[in-house]
Amino acid sequence: MKVAIIGGGITGLSAFHELEKQRAVNGMNIEAELFEADSKLGGKIETLHREGFTIERGPDSFLARKPEMLSLAQELGLEDQLVKNETGKAFIVNNGDFHPIPEGSVMGIPTRVRPFLRSSLLSNSGKLRASADLWLPDKRTEGNDESLGLFFRKRFGDELVDRVLEPLLSGMYAGEMNELSLESTFPQFSYMGKKHRSLILGSRSMAKQRKQSAGTGQKSGLFRTFKGGLSVIVDELEKKAREGSIHKQKQLLELTPLENGYNLQFADGTNKEADRVILTMPHEITANVLPSFSAREEMKSLPGASIATVAIALKSSALADRIEGTGFLIPKGNDAVLKAVTLVHKKWPNMVPEGHALLRCFVGRPGNDDIVSKSDEEIVGQTLRDVRSFLEIREEPLFTNVTRWQNAMPKYTVGHQTRVADWESALSKEYPGVYIAGAFYKGIGLPDCVRQGQEVAVKALQ
Ligand SMILES: Cc1cc2nc3c(=O)[nH]c(=O)nc-3n(C[C@H](O)[C@H](O)[C@H](O)COP(=O)(O)OP(=O)(O)OC[C@H]3O[C@@H](n4cnc5c(N)ncnc54)[C@H](O)[C@@H]3O)c2cc1C
Repeated sequence: MKVAIIGGGITGLSAFHELEKQRAVNGMNIEAELFEADSKLGGKIETLHREGFTIERGPDSFLARKPEMLSLAQELGLEDQLVKNETGKAFIVNNGDFHPIPEGSVMGIPTRVRPFLRSSLLSNSGKLRASADLWLPDKRTEGNDESLGLFFRKRFGDELVDRVLEPLLSGMYAGEMNELSLESTFPQFSYMGKKHRSLILGSRSMAKQRKQSAGTGQKSGLFRTFKGGLSVIVDELEKKAREGSIHKQKQLLELTPLENGYNLQFADGTNKEADRVILTMPHEITANVLPSFSAREEMKSLPGASIATVAIALKSSALADRIEGTGFLIPKGNDAVLKAVTLVHKKWPNMVPEGHALLRCFVGRPGNDDIVSKSDEEIVGQTLRDVRSFLEIREEPLFTNVTRWQNAMPKYTVGHQTRVADWESALSKEYPGVYIAGAFYKGIGLPDCVRQGQEVAVKALQ
């Protein structure tokens, strides 16, 4: 059976690896080939090495609690290259000042009374309103999706949402809280509400369970990367592939049904035939290669958000240490285009040479992302102006690096899960043997993408 995988990001690579595994372990007659439009693999995973700095242009790490990416790393023999993040306080800016996220918070939801009551992030009335979650009933009806904003505002009121949850959660999904789907982004909170009614009580119980399973009770980093950055896993997957099974600079233009299987037409004028096709590119490109797909227009209309990452390399002496944490978030409502800053030298000290500092800044917000299409000079200028309003930078940066991610962050708006299920169902009738997987469908994080790649590979073989 010939299986073509389109896209060499982490989803496509995981699907490819899974198919190769099935062939080797179960002796299945599978001929898997991967086609990537770019001249390099990895998609959004892109690690840059410059002057002793390891700079991530896209993702910087993965959550270890979701097992798929960690297991893949172990399976590839990369265990000894894994690094944990240094833990430290994260701060949120409010009225120009840094405020630590209250200790014991689970994704912004307070679980411990004292740190919450002492927090300078919320007013007394904001704290009182947030505590109403403890006794408010959960009035949702079964099976109905709703926006994250609506769901959390009902439980906690506006202040906790605007000052804490919005900068923390909407950053991960690059969308407005009032548009994002609860069921597709943070289904655990929906489940928690049903099980415990109160999200504070549910988060407390979850935190307790995690502490118990971690054993020692010691605070430990939740994220992992590799000593040489995330591209290490991409390089390893490429190294392990059969010779001639991965093709770069092969941009798929169109998929045409044949009597048995499909013809794949590439931008370089070549064609290839396959029995099964796994599409892992962004949704609008996927819609374009399926000219007669009934959900094509709807698929194209799935919104994406734009963001730029700006790395600023400095000597340590150039940066006045105003906060003891690993980074800070800037909620919307501030004039800044800056959304978040990671102090890489504190979170991942092995990525930065001794005596130096590295800031990784995220710029562009939902509804205010014009900055992302500006020139490098403009982006760096605006980013530095914004950073300087929060941190003291005494010397010019050693260098900067800008990466634009246009429409690259999927926005899972309300009803997303149902839409994706409908597309899959339509695809199975109109293009049997063609499958979709990746960040635009069932999870954005790297472990979610690995899981989707593995699952779609198994599905393609059935
Ligand atoms: C700035 C940023 C920071 C992030 N931070 C984190 C983080 O810290 N942790 C985390 O877990 N996640 C993070 N994410 C999310 C995560 O990086 C992505 O969701 C994930 O990498 C997407 O993988 P993918 O394989 O689904 O898609 P992609 O990586 O987009 O891969 C798709 C591939 O398809 C190729 N392609 C496109 N069109 C064609 C075509 N016509 N023919 C052939 N090939 C084609 C593309 O070139 C690309 O290589 C971040 C994302 C961004 C943008």
